[in-house]
Amino acid sequence: MTDVKHHISDDFLIGYAAGSLPAAFDLVVATHVSLSDDARARLQAFDAVGGCILDEMAVADLAEDSLAKTLSRINDSAAPETASYAKQSKDGDAVFPAPLRDMIGGDLNAVKWRPIGMGCKQAIISEGKDATARLLFIPAGQAMPRHSHRGTEMTLVLQGAYRDETDRFGRGDIEIGDESMNHTPVAEAGEDCICLIATDARLKFEGLLPRIAQTFLRI
Ligand code: ZN
Repeated sequence: MTDVKHHISDDFLIGYAAGSLPAAFDLVVATHVSLSDDARARLQAFDAVGGCILDEMAVADLAEDSLAKTLSRINDSAAPETASYAKQSKDGDAVFPAPLRDMIGGDLNAVKWRPIGMGCKQAIISEGKDATARLLFIPAGQAMPRHSHRGTEMTLVLQGAYRDETDRFGRGDIEIGDESMNHTPVAEAGEDCICLIATDARLKFEGLLPRIAQTFLRI
C-alpha cells in the first residue's frame, strides 16, 4: 500500500478530477488511487481547488502552456482537509481494489480470461470508442513481446511485478507508455503478474493530453 514507487502524473489526475478522461483510463486511475496514498492526497487537493481554478480560467485562451500554468497554480494551492477518499484498507486478501471489483463484479475468480499465447491471458473489461481497459496475466518469468505504442498505454500492476528497460514495477505502480517508448516487459520469477491496462488505440499521444487540457479549460 505504501511502497508504490511509480505514481500517476498530475495531468492524468486532473483529467480524472475533471471527468475528461476516457472511461478505460478513469478505471485505471481510480484503481491506482485506491493503492497510492500519494495519488489520493494529490487528487484530494485537485478536487478541492478545482472549482476555483475553473472559474478563473473560464475565459483563458488555449495557449500551449495553459496546462502547465494551471498545474503550477494548483500546486501552489494548499490542500484543504475537508474532502476525503476512503482508503481501501478493508480489502483483506483481495487482489483487486474496490473500483475494479465493482467493475467486474468480483475479485480474481470472477475474471473470464482468454489465452493470448505463451501462457499469457487477457480479459477485456471495458471497450469504448476512445479507449479499452483490459486485464493481462503474464506467467512468472515470462517475457512479453517487445512493442511500441501507437497511442497511450497506462499499465497498473495488481499482482507480482515486471521489469522493462526503464525500471521495476510492482503492485500499485503505474507505467505510461507512448509512441516514443519501445519496451519488453518481463514478469518477475516467483509470482504470476497481473496488470490492469488502458490503451488508446485511436488517438496518438499528442492528442490525448491536449484534449484533456482543452476539456478542463472549457468547462
Ligand atoms: Zn507497452
